[in-house]
Amino acid sequence: MGIIISKNDEFTTFLKNKLKERYEQRRRLDNKVHVSDIIPSSCIRKQYYARKLPELDVISNETVQHFVRGEASELVITNLADLGVSQAELEMDGLTGRPDIMNSDVIVELKDTMNTQRLNVTDDKFKSYLRQLLYYLVITGIEKGIISIKYNIKELKWIKSDPHGDYFFRPFNSKSPEIESWEIFLPANDITREILKNEMIRRKNLFVKALENEDVTILPRLSEKIRSRKCPWCKFYEVCMDSKNYETEEAKEMANEIDILDIPSVIDLKINDTTNTTT
Ligand code: SF4
Repeated sequence: MGIIISKNDEFTTFLKNKLKERYEQRRRLDNKVHVSDIIPSSCIRKQYYARKLPELDVISNETVQHFVRGEASELVITNLADLGVSQAELEMDGLTGRPDIMNSDVIVELKDTMNTQRLNVTDDKFKSYLRQLLYYLVITGIEKGIISIKYNIKELKWIKSDPHGDYFFRPFNSKSPEIESWEIFLPANDITREILKNEMIRRKNLFVKALENEDVTILPRLSEKIRSRKCPWCKFYEVCMDSKNYETEEAKEMANEIDILDIPSVIDLKINDTTNTTT
């Protein structure tokens, strides 16, 4: 008898179930608020529904892949960098956070993405990475941070979308999968610290109030300018847009407030040939 090769779907399913179990263990169902719950562009309502209606938060294969990729690269890079404590728990006024790497001089956030384009400070995704790091800098009083983004695929240019799907092309000079790191400096005496601190506490208190009173109406939906792009893909779209889950006037105003990171004088972007530096 020669070599016998056959597909083994049972093993794939076994592995998928184990990974899903692992993902489920990390799901937050209590009222403890983590920094990632209150980042504006991540949608505070989505975090509410993920706790209150976990049965709607179906874990797709893609979610599991994303989770495993993130965990694996975080583990490898944290060990390689050997720069400080990994996942140290921070706490401020009932708000918790776990930076990927931290020592007394710097906080490092490691990000892993399938984005087809390189991110910068004009992208919502980059801004959510930046805000999470800034929140950690505010909580700890540390001035320097690094965002290190691992891109998993070659750069692609989007051409168009139609009912059959999205069309991209890969230029010859497109960037390869790589890691790109950004340095962020937030001076200890900068007024932005106070503004961000107020923003964090305000959003945290609102989130706790909504969870305790089971009242989603006080939580803002995503801002109007990104809603049409993001909401239709949200697992909680139907329930969130149901008229009984309206937004209070205060929540509506909050959703459309000007983001401090969009105020031109707040960020000074410096780019040189080899590194990208934001101060
Ligand atoms: S539908 Fe939009 S606003 Fe509502 S929870 Fe989802 S992302 Fe947030």
